[in-house]
Amino acid sequence: MTSRDNAIESPRLGEPYLLTPGPLTTSYAVKESMLRDWGSWDDDFRAMTAEMRRRLLAMLGQGADDFDCVPMQGSGTFSVEAMLGSFVPRDGKVLVLANGAYGQRTAQTLAYLGRDHVILDKGDYLPPRGDEVAQILADDPAITHVVAIHCETSSGILNPVEEISQVTYAAGRKLLVDSMSAFGAIPLEVAQVRYEALVSSANKCIEGVPGFGFVIARKSELEAAKGNSTSISLDVHAQWATMNKTGQWRFTPPTHVVAAFLEALRAHEAEGGVEGRGARYTRNRDVMVAGLRELGFETLLKDRWLSPIIVTFFCPADPKFVFSEFYDLMKAKGFIIYPGKLTVVESFRIGCIGQMDEHVMRQVIAAAKDTLAEMGVKTATPPARALEERAKLAA
Ligand SMILES: *Cc1c(COP(=O)(O)O)cnc(C)c1O
Repeated sequence: MTSRDNAIESPRLGEPYLLTPGPLTTSYAVKESMLRDWGSWDDDFRAMTAEMRRRLLAMLGQGADDFDCVPMQGSGTFSVEAMLGSFVPRDGKVLVLANGAYGQRTAQTLAYLGRDHVILDKGDYLPPRGDEVAQILADDPAITHVVAIHCETSSGILNPVEEISQVTYAAGRKLLVDSMSAFGAIPLEVAQVRYEALVSSANKCIEGVPGFGFVIARKSELEAAKGNSTSISLDVHAQWATMNKTGQWRFTPPTHVVAAFLEALRAHEAEGGVEGRGARYTRNRDVMVAGLRELGFETLLKDRWLSPIIVTFFCPADPKFVFSEFYDLMKAKGFIIYPGKLTVVESFRIGCIGQMDEHVMRQVIAAAKDTLAEMGVKTATPPARALEERAKLAA
């Protein structure tokens, strides 16, 4: 079977696969759909915006009618900032559940926005659990909102949002979710998990090119958000109200990126929607993790916490292993991997998302094997210190 059987295309000659969590490898059709120009006020483009919003909302499943989708210009962080500044009232208080860079960035964003907040900081990779969230909410009645990171892309951990949602609403508070790197591949159906708003962006699991993000929020929250934002460009209520009235974005939209995204959304549907996309990524992860473990590599996380989005591996203990050299040799073989973000031990990450399937993952394993041999590394076993670190993680 060739990779084409799964409707996955190889990048063009000389173009490496991006084993990164976005920007990622996109299909030729997605790239090709950008080869024309659109007027932002024209009916054609307004129809594209409407179709995009409709398709994204449909991924919420039953109950999606209570929600609306508001695209925002900029990278994903712009949409996170827009969500926080629009839905957290100026006198609100946020509990940020952090276990990596994106949780930390949320706290930093709240500081910029002047919104009161506290952080439950679980370090590099431990998951925030329901019972500890419940305790913090019980101890601090001033907290109005909880922010959770769905997949914390810095370690690849899939955080337990369902558990977090239950305790948040049991305590009468509201949940906002950064589902940037998970939406479209990991279900977040409103009938299953309660939340007020989520954010994601064009260049993650939907496999578009970078240029905008989107906020999906409960209509009642969108109504209530009027006047909360202190930023004109990041005011979700204003963008929503204008878009519903005129069909247009308030300021110059990334027209080509929207066209590419629409093509990506159609491919997403053809693949079987969230379920089909999630299944391919899960297979990518399983094949890649099994193959690299055979070479001696070990994952930072135990299987239960591994997301099908990106996986962190410890660097091998062998002194002949130098990450920058490993990176360059992998790139020369057509694979761009991702440096790690752990503070305690050396690590690297490999993404499972984008236009790749298990056949590509097998090539990644072969490339890693050859690279280790070229470097003179006999086994990829990590240092004992790394495994001690991992033992701290509950099953
Ligand atoms: C990618 C990502 C973001 C946004 O990052 P940008 O670089 O602004 O696109 C936010 N949160 C998470 C969890 C992400 O993976």
